[in-house]
Amino acid sequence: YQGLAGRSTNEVLQLYAAHGQQMKFQRSSVVTQLHGAIKKRLKQDLKSLHSFALELSKDFQRQSKTCLYQVLAAVQGIQLQNEAMQMFQIKAFDLEQSLQEVTERYEKEKQKRKALHNSLIELRGNIRVHCRIRPLLPFDDAAGHSQDRQRNFSEKVAYAADDETVLVKCSRPGHASVNKTFQFERVYNDLESQDAVFADVAPLLTSLLDGYNVCIMAYGQTGSGKTYTMLGPQLEGNLAFAMEEESELGIIPRATQEVFRLISEKPPGSYWVEVSVVEVYNNEIFDLLAKDSCGKVFGVKRDVVTTREGKSDVPLLTHETVENASEFLHLVNKGLQLRVTHPTLVHAHSSRSHLVVTLTITTVVFGDNFGTLWEDEQTSQRLNKEAAFTFPQKMRDNKSTSSSRASSPVQLEATEKMKQVKTRLQLVDLAGSECVGMSGVTGAALRETSFINRSLSALADVLGAIAEQRAHVPYRNSKLTHLLQDSVGGDAKLLVMLCISPGQKYLTESMQSLGFGTRARQVQRGQVKKKNFPVPSKGK
Ligand code: ADP
Ligand code: MG
Repeated sequence: YQGLAGRSTNEVLQLYAAHGQQMKFQRSSVVTQLHGAIKKRLKQDLKSLHSFALELSKDFQRQSKTCLYQVLAAVQGIQLQNEAMQMFQIKAFDLEQSLQEVTERYEKEKQKRKALHNSLIELRGNIRVHCRIRPLLPFDDAAGHSQDRQRNFSEKVAYAADDETVLVKCSRPGHASVNKTFQFERVYNDLESQDAVFADVAPLLTSLLDGYNVCIMAYGQTGSGKTYTMLGPQLEGNLAFAMEEESELGIIPRATQEVFRLISEKPPGSYWVEVSVVEVYNNEIFDLLAKDSCGKVFGVKRDVVTTREGKSDVPLLTHETVENASEFLHLVNKGLQLRVTHPTLVHAHSSRSHLVVTLTITTVVFGDNFGTLWEDEQTSQRLNKEAAFTFPQKMRDNKSTSSSRASSPVQLEATEKMKQVKTRLQLVDLAGSECVGMSGVTGAALRETSFINRSLSALADVLGAIAEQRAHVPYRNSKLTHLLQDSVGGDAKLLVMLCISPGQKYLTESMQSLGFGTRARQVQRGQVKKKNFPVPSKGK
């Protein structure tokens, strides 16, 4: 048994060993199988990995190549841009230089323009006369019948033969026939609009801003169209004028618009405008913008004086600063309405007084020389003399300008070499020039008439004295001429607008007006002659 047991044990052990070996064998074959599979798989993976890596590196190469191209292109672009930038810089520099040159040239041209404009105005005459013949109107007919039996009383006798000639042609039985022509710088026929009239006035306003005083006055008998020409059609039963009808506006509103338009082209704050409105009635000056302590507008008598510098001045006259044309028009209308409402100013007809609207343009000039503003020597010197005071002091003195649109006085005081120069535009609607016979006229009417006659003949005398280049011009013979002194004569520009009623009824008055205009025109001829050829001083 022992032996058996031993053998069995051995057998068992052998069996175990065999089993173990078999197991090992079995195990190792799975492993090798697995190993093989894994190896195979690994190889595959490795291969694909390899090809992927290869692909990747190729791709990378490709991409970096394109990037390189892009970078190169960008660099090239930058280089080009740099070059272009340099070109632009050079161009900008060139442009800057030429801009500077052009600016300098422009300044010079501007001065030349001013000088030329002034020569042109002077050639046309510092005093020129235009004549406007109004259309025949219904009232021309109505008024005539009672006195006239020939029924052609309203027949037209004054015509514009062309734009420089007036023809007066009239033959009446029992009267010497008239057939006469008159020459003026410009003649407007009855169809010519307010626009056409103003077109010839506008150049004077350029002169105004160039530093010359300007006066535009309407002369003619009552009803000949003075107020229509100067202001525009009047409102029904009112002395104010209609501001709605743009195309019907007369010289005064249009001139103001033009002045503000011209100012708008200048550097802001360098110009401002003040207005005064006066009426000259019976040789007295009435301030139509004066206000009482309650702020109510009423007319106050003022006087005209000559200052130490030889300028005419109206002390205490109300000057209102205006910033645009419509403000101005409201102010003027207010003044005009006063003419009819104020008891001391009541007179039968607006045509019995002279209306003077004055625009004072104050120019602020920097530096001590006006040569930069006014090229032509004379004006420059004249203005230099006139602006004897420095600006800030004057600003403090002058209450009415403190609210102007120019810089505040405080700012102005900071700038030392600043001066102000004033130029004046005077717009005048003269009293009716009709030769009212003195016989039968008494009292107030007589006084009125004689004052009108005297002031208009004083005006004629002033123009005559200027024509003959007399040393003494009798400005002070009437308040009217004294008031207009600075804008009539010298290098001031005067435009006389003769207004003519065309009807036969007014023949005498029309001839008188045309005679006045012809005499005033000789002033211009005298001046032009003097400029071009030396003439004997007198006797022409
Ligand atoms: P004056 O002021 O000289 O007395 P007005 O200006 O009051 O004359 O004119 C008298 C009338 O004639 C007014 O009714 C006015 O409207 C009219 N009138 C004047 N001129 C013209 C014109 N060119 N065209 C149309 N109507 C005119
Ligand atoms: Mg009138």
